[in-house]
Amino acid sequence: MEAKTALNPRSTIWELRNIQGAFAQFSVSFNFYILGSSSSGNCALLSTPDANILIDAGFSARRIKRSLDMLNVEMASIDAVFLTHEHCDHCAGVAGLSRMENLLFFANRDTARAVQSTCTKTNPSWRIFDTGISFSFQGITVETFSIPHDAADPVGYTFTLADGATLSWVTDLGHVPRLVRERIKHTDYLVLESNYDVDMLACSARPLSLKQRIKGRHGHLSNDLALELLLTLESTRLKQVFLAHLSNECNTPALVTDAMATARAARPQCGFTVIAPDSTDPVVFTP
Ligand SMILES: [Zn+2]
Ligand SMILES: [Zn+2]
Repeated sequence: MEAKTALNPRSTIWELRNIQGAFAQFSVSFNFYILGSSSSGNCALLSTPDANILIDAGFSARRIKRSLDMLNVEMASIDAVFLTHEHCDHCAGVAGLSRMENLLFFANRDTARAVQSTCTKTNPSWRIFDTGISFSFQGITVETFSIPHDAADPVGYTFTLADGATLSWVTDLGHVPRLVRERIKHTDYLVLESNYDVDMLACSARPLSLKQRIKGRHGHLSNDLALELLLTLESTRLKQVFLAHLSNECNTPALVTDAMATARAARPQCGFTVIAPDSTDPVVFTP
């Protein structure tokens, strides 16, 4: 594999491997960057020695490029985008990104169809999967699973890397069904929605119908429900939680931090990071 740039995290790792002879000797098997996450847009970069993949593309291609520039990652080094569902805060960048040669877009059929209808001038290179299946992409095992949300066929993901480390992405869900719990129970690194504070939502100026949609079984996960999951998840492996997809209007990082106090006390070995909804600085995580 050719090195991209000296500072590209992927090439840096490969340079290390070339020097030391065995990547497995290093504890760092990936880098993870949340370029942004809130009700206004979601996009993350999972970077392994073999692949750079985006999870969702909920910002313009220009904004995504700006964030990658801050990380010294070249746009051209992105191999694929894994989409969770067709809502704009997850797909706004697809049309722009699809102008890039060789970039693959993974989604299930209904999500791809819904996103394609917004891409009038471009034709993304779709790779269609059936929800619920697992498949392999450049050394990463990708598990897909249904989540309860008001979209065509929304999914969560668990990515298992070559060394067995697992990262799960679970946002945009109105509640936590048993299936989701099962699919994330052995995960090491968890991105979990903590969308709204119940009181802030109740007091907001939003129309009643929107409040009901957000609170509904196919809406978004409250701070309380995120906490309940973290307190009851049968995981002994959990090393890091990212609380993400905060509502700009009905939540604050301080409220999420307070809400998670008992989860932090129950899991003292686990890191907790709240993704500020208005931040444009990528959150950098190296295990
Ligand atoms: Zn959504
Ligand atoms: Zn969303």
